[in-house]
Amino acid sequence: MSNEAEERAATIAANLSAVRQRIAAAATRVGRAVEAVTLVAVSKTYPIEDVVSAYAAGQRDFGENRVEELWPKVHAAQALGLHDLRWHLIGTLQSRKTPEAVGPFALIHAVDRLKIAARLSRDALAAGCTMPILLEVNISGEASKHGFRPDEVLASAHELREMGGVQVKGLMTMAPYEAEPEATRPVFRELAALRDQLAAKAPELEWSELSMGMTNDFEIAVEEGATLVRVGSAIFGARET
Ligand SMILES: *Cc1c(COP(=O)(O)O)cnc(C)c1O
Repeated sequence: MSNEAEERAATIAANLSAVRQRIAAAATRVGRAVEAVTLVAVSKTYPIEDVVSAYAAGQRDFGENRVEELWPKVHAAQALGLHDLRWHLIGTLQSRKTPEAVGPFALIHAVDRLKIAARLSRDALAAGCTMPILLEVNISGEASKHGFRPDEVLASAHELREMGGVQVKGLMTMAPYEAEPEATRPVFRELAALRDQLAAKAPELEWSELSMGMTNDFEIAVEEGATLVRVGSAIFGARET
């Protein structure tokens, strides 16, 4: 490795360690087990070398928001012999892209409408597999945000169970960006409350996962019950795009 590459790898390892410590501290503050929170390192726009550096520092869960960027990284990681890496598709899926979302992925986080879920179900069934998914919920109600309305989630989850090909594991949300991270707490609290209501109403379905929190607000998300936090810039640096 060149000096520059070594320095970059050391920076990523140090950033990861700092993020992990912050997650652990947030979990401890509210009496949650640290193991209950999975850190998804969002590697979008960063090269496979950075994924390898994070992997060397013990990171196993990685997130990408576009299938076009995910697949080349999946193949590159396989070619490098990194077989125990878990890929998460975290971005909104366009309906014509659902066939590409069927693959060796740990979780699809942002299924935002029944139409997308139904296409994914169809494509997964055609491929003979079942894709684990989260339903994205538009908690803030902002028109610009994707996601199911809270009152649509239960009926949609039941419908999806009938369809097969996808298995709902829980909920995801994108909080609006707030200059003051504390301002996002009500959004996370509402998503967790919705999950608890759904688990009480429909215990036959699975509601265990809550994907919420990014660089700006992941500690608050952990305090409010996140089981998956999606952190990019705090690990890999600010993105140009
Ligand atoms: C990019 C992205 C993230 C990570 O964002 P950071 O602010 O860099 O941590 C998380 N979730 C989704 C859906 C993203 O697209």
